[in-house]
Amino acid sequence: MTMETALLHLGCLEFAINEHLQEGALLNLNEIHTLFAPSNWLPVPTEELCHQAYMNMRPALALATKLITSKEMMNWWMHALYGNLSRHKKSGRIYLADDYRELDTKQAKLEVDAKFSEVAEKIRFYWMPPVCIDRKESLAGMASYSPYDVMSHLDEAQFPTDHSETGRFLPTIGLDVQFLHHLVHSPGTPALSHGSNLRLQFYIAIVLVHELAHVIWMMVSWKHSIEPYFYLNDDMPEAGYSWENHVFGCHVSPYPFDRERIGPVCSSSFDEIAAFPSIYIPQPMAWVRMWFLEETWKDLHAHRAKMQPTVHHKLPDCYQGVFFADRYSRRANIWVRVLYKDRKAYAVQGSKVLDQEAESGKLAVAIRLGTVPPKQSLAKWFEITRVRDVQRAKERGWPDEEFHVGRSRDYELSCYDGKGTPLGDDDT
Ligand SMILES: [Zn+2]
Repeated sequence: MTMETALLHLGCLEFAINEHLQEGALLNLNEIHTLFAPSNWLPVPTEELCHQAYMNMRPALALATKLITSKEMMNWWMHALYGNLSRHKKSGRIYLADDYRELDTKQAKLEVDAKFSEVAEKIRFYWMPPVCIDRKESLAGMASYSPYDVMSHLDEAQFPTDHSETGRFLPTIGLDVQFLHHLVHSPGTPALSHGSNLRLQFYIAIVLVHELAHVIWMMVSWKHSIEPYFYLNDDMPEAGYSWENHVFGCHVSPYPFDRERIGPVCSSSFDEIAAFPSIYIPQPMAWVRMWFLEETWKDLHAHRAKMQPTVHHKLPDCYQGVFFADRYSRRANIWVRVLYKDRKAYAVQGSKVLDQEAESGKLAVAIRLGTVPPKQSLAKWFEITRVRDVQRAKERGWPDEEFHVGRSRDYELSCYDGKGTPLGDDDT
């Protein structure tokens, strides 16, 4: 079975026909926060393209609006607003300790709303071209304190981010131009399928709100150049990921996401985000669609449990469901993305080859990638399998830099808890 057929069969790419018929009312496309108003989008590359993209991305903006205005979604923002910068003695982490003001949710919501209204007056969005900066990982979005700071992302030495010098808070959010590529259709090219479009809208909404989490922190506490661990148990001191963790309990994004494909939305733990080899769980389209239904937002509490998808290390030992794992086939000397179901390889797709030989023949060899032993937890199985696969690949000449396990390389240095930069002495 090809990967595409398998994912279609599992309902991770499109809806089954009867599922489609039962679709409830979708979010009202007129209910979009003024923060996302058309006038806040820089008209590049042209006004017309921007307008077209704007009209086509309204479902994403309606969802982003829900995520920053719904009463039930307020906790993270209130915490960012009121939390007290503290140092956790045991871990050395600088984090936001709870503040009593977070308990007065009515008042706190008013203040969060006011902050977003203030941001709405100042913020600008732009489509970010693929930048050649020294980053190892691709960038779906980028938040800057001011347009000047966009330069510092390119070259921190030449454009230091000293806000007292650069002046006013004029937050700027760049979004990957690949979003624009999918949003606008040149005449004659096929429009995105219903499922692909919904995954695109979902991803745009998540990236927008992730970046807004950074913006709110910049606004609340611009004098601190570092971001704290918003909650002590966050994986990284990263506002956007902290927000994602709060809402989803994990990271969710389509994988793969490129010009050709908008893959299934996958859930993964934060240390699998930029890892290779990695493990993640594709979510059915019904899960993605749930976020766009009015009904979901009318009673968030009822849907709360469903909203947080699971990740591999939280699964029961007897888990039979689907998941992806990057695996190495020694015989074919190829890395493949394997979709497992019932603990057996269900579909395989080539992902990395060392040389340029055609991979189709190799895939056939790679398909036999074994089963997950019964009753072994996925976490344990993958931990062992990953080490062995990487070891075997290295023996066949795969370079070290192909592999990365754990925290995103881009954020490792900012983690200041013993695995990154050493901690300073002054208590905050
Ligand atoms: Zn971020």
